[in-house]
Amino acid sequence: MRGSPSEPPPRRPSRRRLAVRIAALTVVLVLAAIGAAFIEERRTERQTDITVARATPTPVVTPTPEPTNATATPLPQAPAVTVAPVPIEATLLPEQVGQGESAVLSVVQPGAASASVMFLNRRYPLLRDGDVFWTPLGVGLVVPLGEHVAEVSTRDEAGLLLDRAELRFRVVPVTRPIDYLQLTEELTSILTPEAAATEFRQRSFEQFNLFEARPAWDGLFIRPTEGIVTTEFGQGRSINQGPVGGFHSGLDIANAAGTPIVAPAPGRISWAGPMPIRGNTVLLDHGAGVVTGYHHLLEIVAEVGQEVEQGELIARMGSTGLSTGPHLHWEMTIYGINVDPDTWTHVPFAPRSRSSAE
Ligand SMILES: [Zn+2]
Repeated sequence: MRGSPSEPPPRRPSRRRLAVRIAALTVVLVLAAIGAAFIEERRTERQTDITVARATPTPVVTPTPEPTNATATPLPQAPAVTVAPVPIEATLLPEQVGQGESAVLSVVQPGAASASVMFLNRRYPLLRDGDVFWTPLGVGLVVPLGEHVAEVSTRDEAGLLLDRAELRFRVVPVTRPIDYLQLTEELTSILTPEAAATEFRQRSFEQFNLFEARPAWDGLFIRPTEGIVTTEFGQGRSINQGPVGGFHSGLDIANAAGTPIVAPAPGRISWAGPMPIRGNTVLLDHGAGVVTGYHHLLEIVAEVGQEVEQGELIARMGSTGLSTGPHLHWEMTIYGINVDPDTWTHVPFAPRSRSSAE
């Protein structure tokens, strides 16, 4: 017997109904699977976000303790606490720089990997010497008098800007007499625009493009030759009683033709050859942007590329180019800016750490 007559017999689904149910169930299962996969994917995305956020390196300079101002400026999504670096300590010596004179900038900042300075509209790299960054700097003869602002920048190991600081300094006048020069017609004919252009090109593109990075000197320079100083650096020039046009770009020391000329400080001979106005020329690269020039030479003794010591013979005095008699026209440039070379024979221009150690 199967069931009692009061109970309805179990309804057997027909084959068609069964097929429809299976199909519907399949659709539901597929949809559920898609939904689950979607949810899982979203969840994975969120987890990835968090993981990335946690993995981001935080620019913490000092890990503990947190500075008190961190609570004053809460940053909800930034667990990193950026601690301001120790302020830049920058010094320019002398603090008042004469027109056509030199100075040394020293910069100290713990944690800095490199430094540079924007000085009189030009950017200069600073050399590293222990914990001091420094560079010699030249103030041109026609830089406006009064207060100027230099901007020092430091960078970290990754090359990112670490800090900036302004340094105020004054450019002061230097009294220099006018040099009244009498030139013969023959000599005046040397001073053509073409000659000036050639020499400008030689100086701008050949001589002042490459410098030895490290300074070769340590201490005072010496005068490169013996004789009488006939014209000082920076004197205004009047040629044949004309108006003052331009300044004397070096120091003239006169003596007999053939007088030995020696290196005033260690360096490497970086250029040698004739120039239309300056005559036979030797350039000596002392590193850190400092180059000395020897002009109107009778004879060039040293060779390009040669390393020379202080006091070593490099040339002999002459009167080539635009010259009224045997003399040495001695120049100094700092990254191409003409400065008085004679100042370097009685003022040491070196990093502060080195000066204070002496
Ligand atoms: Zn001269």
